[in-house]
Amino acid sequence: MSTAAPTPIVALAGGVGAARFLRGLVRAVDPRDVTAIINTGDDRRFYGVHVSPDIDIVTYTLAGRVDRQRGFGLADDTFALIDALAALGHETWFRLGDADFATCQHRSLRLAEGAGLAEVTDEIRRRFGVATRLLPMSEDPCATLVELSGGDRMHFEEYLVRDGAPSDVEGVDLSAARNARPGPGVLDALRAARSILFCPSNPVVSIGPILALPGVREALRESTAPVIAISPIVAGAPVKGPADSLLRGIGAEVSARGVARLYRELIDGFVLDTRDREEASDVAALGLRCIAVDTLMRDGDVAERLARDALELADSLR
Ligand code: GDP
Repeated sequence: MSTAAPTPIVALAGGVGAARFLRGLVRAVDPRDVTAIINTGDDRRFYGVHVSPDIDIVTYTLAGRVDRQRGFGLADDTFALIDALAALGHETWFRLGDADFATCQHRSLRLAEGAGLAEVTDEIRRRFGVATRLLPMSEDPCATLVELSGGDRMHFEEYLVRDGAPSDVEGVDLSAARNARPGPGVLDALRAARSILFCPSNPVVSIGPILALPGVREALRESTAPVIAISPIVAGAPVKGPADSLLRGIGAEVSARGVARLYRELIDGFVLDTRDREEASDVAALGLRCIAVDTLMRDGDVAERLARDALELADSLR
């Protein structure tokens, strides 16, 4: 199985922000030289099937088949199955398209046959013609829970999709990830990496769960590879999604500088957006090499340039 082969660039990844960046990265370098370690804290069973939202977003995006408007799901998918389930009285707030459902059904069948999530993920990405290795961060259940004021605690997908990401976040519970084992190949990939990149993903609920896994922080600290993070905060706000509420909820500043502070012990360099360039000196004061470039990935060209900038920063730190 290909999860054993070491590859030189390792990227820690969530969903949409990561997928946009990885699309650029695999234009900048040989896609086979990239390994993405992907968050599974959002995974959950829906309608009897195992849904891995971030793995599927990255797979579909790298395959060129993602629904670009939504940023997730498959382009031109239909929704007959979910509509039929709704007609039967099911709660259907998590709207899986028909072909997307088939991916999840296939995953569930293979898991029931005894395959591991890493193996199935590898099979699926190959079927989609994706040359980049995609590693689930863990094969153990590691649901991320969000805690709201008033004491409500819920699975991340319930928070995001069912409830529309309310802003009154009081905390994020990563204890499941903290007690999970890293997936096959994860620690080996980090140890063998020539460069390690933190994609511009949600630091709290996408990169946070990966960093919470036993052994990951140690592997990053011991690695001789430069570690570079790209800010998901642009002009002081998330490009998309509830990173602001989640950052505030864990007591962090909603800014590029705030994200750099969260990662400071683990990274060597930080890429922030030109719109936040006045924060670069604060990031440098943390002991990090910092560059300011255009990080708003409107298209593949910007994403490719951003990937090249991040890799150049890594090279300058060797
Ligand atoms: P999710 O699991 O689908 O939410 O995906 P991620 O965690 O990978 O991505 C969410 C983060 O990506 C958000 O915090 C966004 O601000 C960030 N993001 C999305 N698009 C861009 C972009 O074009 N540039 C940058 N710098 N960040 C982005």
